[in-house]
Amino acid sequence: MALIVQKYGGTSVGTTERIQNVAERIIQFRDAGHDLVVVVSAMSGETNKLITLAKEISDPPTPREFDVLLSTGEQVTIALLAMALESRGYSARSYTGSQVHILTDSAHNKARILDIDNQYMRTDLDAGRVVIVAGFQGVDAKGNITTLGRGGSDTTAVALAAALKADECQIYTDVDGVYTTDPRIVAEARRLDKITFEEMLELASLGAKVLQIRAVEFASKYNVPLRVLSSFDEPGSQNSTLIAAEEEEDNKMEQALISGIAFNRDEAKLTLQGVPDQPGVAYKILGPVADANIEVDMIIQNMGADNNTTDFTFTVHRNDYPQAKEILNQLVTSLGAKEATFDNKIVKISMVGVGMRSHAGIASEMFQALAEEGINIKMIATSEIKISVVVDEKYLELAVRTLHSQFNLDEEAVS
Ligand code: ADP
Ligand code: ASP
Ligand code: MG
Repeated sequence: MALIVQKYGGTSVGTTERIQNVAERIIQFRDAGHDLVVVVSAMSGETNKLITLAKEISDPPTPREFDVLLSTGEQVTIALLAMALESRGYSARSYTGSQVHILTDSAHNKARILDIDNQYMRTDLDAGRVVIVAGFQGVDAKGNITTLGRGGSDTTAVALAAALKADECQIYTDVDGVYTTDPRIVAEARRLDKITFEEMLELASLGAKVLQIRAVEFASKYNVPLRVLSSFDEPGSQNSTLIAAEEEEDNKMEQALISGIAFNRDEAKLTLQGVPDQPGVAYKILGPVADANIEVDMIIQNMGADNNTTDFTFTVHRNDYPQAKEILNQLVTSLGAKEATFDNKIVKISMVGVGMRSHAGIASEMFQALAEEGINIKMIATSEIKISVVVDEKYLELAVRTLHSQFNLDEEAVS
């Protein structure tokens, strides 16, 4: 008998029929003697609908009221799931985030979980009830409702699993695991049986939305065994991906060089050309950007043609693009630069793998494969276990497919 935290995403609870299927799955675990805490998302499309409603009234809405609104999507599914269980003769209780005291900071729309009082859930579990908790939401110290950012139900589930010291956290979604890349883009993508926290963290932060990045951070910090599975598979299916700490034995020669390829279509590129090259240039450009609360991802500074000036390029989230553009246009005058240029039709593609640590030549092989397809690389960034390139958005599918086959990701790993 184990304590299991399960999370069902939007598609998995997208219709009342799907919710009934989820109830049947939960019942199988209950009948096997397990204790269950279940986190659910809003029905698919509901959170987007709420966002549209808000923006029809006020754009941008005040963050506090936006959270009051967004948190309602999950309140619908917790109640429906509890009803489905109770109507089948199984005891269950649904709770909003605030009711189970998921305490967060006050950063509305992107709050971080600070603490969870598990006493409330324990009481229900001891009484033999399935505990159903609304994902994606919490409450701050002053009692305000907060939300955890898009995809935040994953984080609720992992945080509850950590707080309850659960035996496993199961993330049920519409794919049966973590793949070598998004299976919607590359049909040959292969499911990974196991991936390290470190690799999953990179993949999630580089755009693979199968898990919210904070969920992976939490799981890694508290060593919560995390499994991704499909709610569309027959119960008992063995297909899944385990995300866990790297083990000694993983460090073998035959370990895959590249675990996966992620991409991010949400970035935009800005360049300030011909800036007089003096100490402090980077600060003078990025200072005002940071003051506007805009996060910068990739940065390149290179020497201009005349040696006295520099070209400075960086990327930001597309939501911040209009504001960042304005700031750069102002800097052209104040810094005496030649001009500012912009490009929001870009995509960042990244290869991730702990095996890269011990292998040289992966970057050049990546660049060669892209060159052979006539794909121009606009920016490059590397770290110990990842290489990212920025290319034209129109090359996204071709580039991902090219790299997927170049690095043999569609073939079974040697074991
Ligand atoms: P949920 O609503 O269950 O939270 P999401 O839509 O947030 O589901 O995440 C699942 C989706 O993530 C999949 O349908 C898939 O298209 C996408 N995805 C992106 N990269 C990957 C990957 N490497 N492996 C599996 N799925 C991926
Ligand atoms: N319903 C929220 C969203 O669509 C949270 C989640 O699904 O994880 O982002
Ligand atoms: Mg999700």
